[in-house]
Amino acid sequence: MVFTVAFGRLWCGWACPQTVFMEIIFRKIENWIEGDYKAQKRLQAAAWTAEKIKKKVLKHGLFLLIAFAISNTFLAYIIGKDELLRIQTDDPANHLGGLAAILIFTVLFYLVFAKVREMVCIVICPYGRLQGVLLDKKSIVVAYDYVRGEPRGKLKKQDTAPKGDCVDCSLCVQVCPTGIDIRKGTQLECINCTACIDACDGVMNKIQKPLGLIRYASQEGIEQHKKFRFDGRLQAYTAVLVVLISVLSYLLINRKDVETTVLRASGLTFQKQDNGQVSNLYTVEVINKTFRPIELNFKVKNPDFQLQYVGQALKTARPGELTKGSFFLLTPAKKITENKTPIEIEVTANGQLIDQVKTNFMGPVE
Ligand code: SF4
Ligand code: SF4
Repeated sequence: MVFTVAFGRLWCGWACPQTVFMEIIFRKIENWIEGDYKAQKRLQAAAWTAEKIKKKVLKHGLFLLIAFAISNTFLAYIIGKDELLRIQTDDPANHLGGLAAILIFTVLFYLVFAKVREMVCIVICPYGRLQGVLLDKKSIVVAYDYVRGEPRGKLKKQDTAPKGDCVDCSLCVQVCPTGIDIRKGTQLECINCTACIDACDGVMNKIQKPLGLIRYASQEGIEQHKKFRFDGRLQAYTAVLVVLISVLSYLLINRKDVETTVLRASGLTFQKQDNGQVSNLYTVEVINKTFRPIELNFKVKNPDFQLQYVGQALKTARPGELTKGSFFLLTPAKKITENKTPIEIEVTANGQLIDQVKTNFMGPVE
């Protein structure tokens, strides 16, 4: 939100996966096969000849292939690469659900990039819908300089009427992927892709006028003929952004590879053993966030307590998985000095301390 208020819809035009895939892959392929937007319009209106069929089959075939690759990558992200590999290489009869998912996502991605396209940004994406409330007169957006451009009109030799720089060629409208006329002002549909800036700069070059009739600017900047300045407001927003990004980066960099939770078994307090010891039962959960198995060792810091596993010892945390186990903590009854003793358990992997977990031990004070 902070980013959008200050810098407009830069995310949509330059970083959103929908735009990145659309503009850098799918539209490039389309332009390569069918030519620029004018050639595409002609091809669309033309009768079905062998040439048209060849181009359409090639384009949609490539779109399907790429959608298939994206679908597989997307699934690998959700279910893990090993599971995906199993679906791809094992007997199909064992993975009908997985194969159906690959197929459904392939069709979905194909439809998004071949048919729905910018409707995703205009109608479906909630972030896009929020733009109206996030932008104000000072936000930097792709804007038409109406002060300089109006009154617009075609260039005519003997025309002496005062004219703005816009020659009304409508190129900016024709190249716009969402089909809007940016000269009507900032609109919800604009994804800041800057295609209209490039088109208009081309025209300005030809008619030898300064570039930037359509450019990144704020509404206030255009009204008051102000050049873009990195003013106090933008500096403040940028400072907030830098703090937020730094905190996020710090959290990511310092993220633990292993996360351990130790909880006393619910519904139980303590058990008195025949040998004079008191025990508490604990459940332990270990999340291994790495791609390799981690050898674990649990050690109670308090020397009066002893750890005893229930069933198999929890010695290995499987890669990318949650591993569960349980153990007892035991201590001689005479060592208990309070009803609730704070306990600290060290978790080590290959001799290195990776986590410290705090819990409590319940017991009767004698
Ligand atoms: S491309 Fe530039 S000159 Fe042509 S219509 Fe758009 S704003 Fe006017
Ligand atoms: S072409 Fe211009 S008006 Fe159209 S979406 Fe891109 S930046 Fe916005």
